[in-house]
Amino acid sequence: MSALTAGAPGRTAFDVTALRAEFPILATTSRGKPLVYLDSAATAQKPRVVIDAVGDFYRHDNANIHRGVYQLSERATLAWESARACVATSVGGAVDEVVFVRGTTEAINLVAHSFLRPRLLPGGTVLVTEMEHHANIVPWQLAGAATVAIPVTDTGELDLVAAERMLRDRPVLLAISHISNALGTINPVEELCAMAHAHGVPVLVDGAQAAPHLVIDVAAIGCDFYCFSGHKVFGPTGIGVLWAKREHLDVMPPYQGGGDMIDEVTFAGTTYAAAPRKFEAGTPHIAGAVGLAAALTWLAAQDRVAIQAHEDALRDDATGRLAAIPGLRLVGTAPRKAAVLAFTLDGAHPHDVASLLDGEGVCVRAGHHCTQPLHRRLGLPATVRASFALYNTHDEVAALARALVKVRRLFG
Ligand code: PLP
Repeated sequence: MSALTAGAPGRTAFDVTALRAEFPILATTSRGKPLVYLDSAATAQKPRVVIDAVGDFYRHDNANIHRGVYQLSERATLAWESARACVATSVGGAVDEVVFVRGTTEAINLVAHSFLRPRLLPGGTVLVTEMEHHANIVPWQLAGAATVAIPVTDTGELDLVAAERMLRDRPVLLAISHISNALGTINPVEELCAMAHAHGVPVLVDGAQAAPHLVIDVAAIGCDFYCFSGHKVFGPTGIGVLWAKREHLDVMPPYQGGGDMIDEVTFAGTTYAAAPRKFEAGTPHIAGAVGLAAALTWLAAQDRVAIQAHEDALRDDATGRLAAIPGLRLVGTAPRKAAVLAFTLDGAHPHDVASLLDGEGVCVRAGHHCTQPLHRRLGLPATVRASFALYNTHDEVAALARALVKVRRLFG
């Protein structure tokens, strides 16, 4: 079965047990207990089709791309460019609007270098939000912009009245997350794009947390830039996507120089290849792109409506069970949110909670989740975060709740 056709053959209704069987790591143990993996917001586990696609590429098709005239290199080039076409289809964009990068972080750094910096005048700002990941704050600052943040309410939603007011100050760019990695809030990106464009402000949407949960349509969102990481969408690490409107890519200067991104090089100067190749200097992560295409194809073959319902049910189940634990406070209770639950437990440091849960085989994240400004705004040094994906089960929600009750007793 080829990576691009492999999916969930014969499965019509959503069957979490069958789906889990496609993820070898989920059958393993941790600390002698069945693995309960609740850290998919950090990185998602990989289905066998992705693991096999990467292995098969190295076993059968490995060569460098765009350079060789021999058949193997042509096959590798075809695999790389087919992966680009697969990404374009999955986000609803054009093939030459898809730039392969290492991940969301590199995508945002690319836009900061090649789009923001040439437009930045003294005092220029980038409008972000208080809930942004550091990857959507620091690159703008490195490029020389001041970052100004749309406030977050106590429930973890964006203050849209403030957003509208702040857009009137004409920031150079609005840069917002589609889904918050720390709170799970699903932001109204369509509305924010329309608002920003009414003020002539282009928009970058950080889709790192949205790509695994939502069907992405860049045209419907109306953004100028959309980015995500392969490893969070069940693909390999070290590969990611920047989608950008062609009109922007055409005028943006290259981000890095090297092989494969040029038209002609002389000692007097260089002319560059057309986008997207002018942004892909050097030998890229070819196997990573092949694995990413396998992941996106696999995801597209699933029943996305049923998966959405499953993830919503996990979120509601986990919210109910955790809220019932005395001393546990949920952080981020927006009405539109993904299955990401951040919380604190009275008298217990989040790192201690996460370590004790690890003893029960339950993997969660503790800390500021690369959102220090958000945690400062909430007056919390750290939280515990349990993040769910399509392969999690209600039994795992129960295991988390049971383990937390145990931890509670230790600190209670
Ligand atoms: N943006 C968000 C919302 C994230 O959750 C993350 C990672 O957790 C990133 C950006 C950075 O992604 P990466 O480390 O894959 O580049």
